[in-house]
Amino acid sequence: MTATHTDEALEQLALTAARELEDATAEEILAWASETFGPRWCVTSSMEDAVLAHLASRVQPGIDVVFLDTGYHFVETIGTRDAVAAVYPVNVITLTPRQTVAEQDAEYGPKLHDRDPDRCCALRKVAPLQTSLDGYDAWATGLRRDDSPERADTPVVGWDAKKRKVKISPIARWNQDQVDAYILEHGVLTNPLLMDGYASIGCEPCTRRVAPGEDPRAGRWAGRAKTECGIH
Ligand code: SF4
Repeated sequence: MTATHTDEALEQLALTAARELEDATAEEILAWASETFGPRWCVTSSMEDAVLAHLASRVQPGIDVVFLDTGYHFVETIGTRDAVAAVYPVNVITLTPRQTVAEQDAEYGPKLHDRDPDRCCALRKVAPLQTSLDGYDAWATGLRRDDSPERADTPVVGWDAKKRKVKISPIARWNQDQVDAYILEHGVLTNPLLMDGYASIGCEPCTRRVAPGEDPRAGRWAGRAKTECGIH
């Protein structure tokens, strides 16, 4: 692919790849991304763990790993980001929203995350990610089909019509046991909060611990009618 391809060509490419790569391994899907997009793709990471960053660094050392620093992260999440940047051959890019938390509080009032979490996520996650993806044709995510019913149909490669990018989910078919096995086999960096009762880690005001056996994503936006931040 060159930098002059059209959206239509990218969409067609994604649909073809979705069929051809459905049964491929995560490494094969990432190798396809590397061969197809060269420097024009990136990996996004919430820094819950570094599985996707580790996988991608093996097929394309120096790959851009995009992290959204909302200003509301746990200190452990920021520490995981710093460790990933120090340890793995990746280029960690930290995105920040247009406004600091203090500036947002001044314009919208304090604790927007409690009163209007959709708007808070739109300001602090969706908008900065959209802007940052301008320089890429494709982005890879750590989405898995077993994350939630809403993600059950996640394609390994798809066309993100909203962002107008190819969206790659190399571990879409993995389950938690496979993630855990990969972490163990490769000694992959993980967020320490995973060992402290947190099963899915987002912004501190919108994340709580879950009980053993509870749905891992039950700790995200608990008590609020919200299950996704809007970037997917
Ligand atoms: Fe705001 Fe919560 Fe969304 Fe983070 S997860 S951007 S704090 S609403």
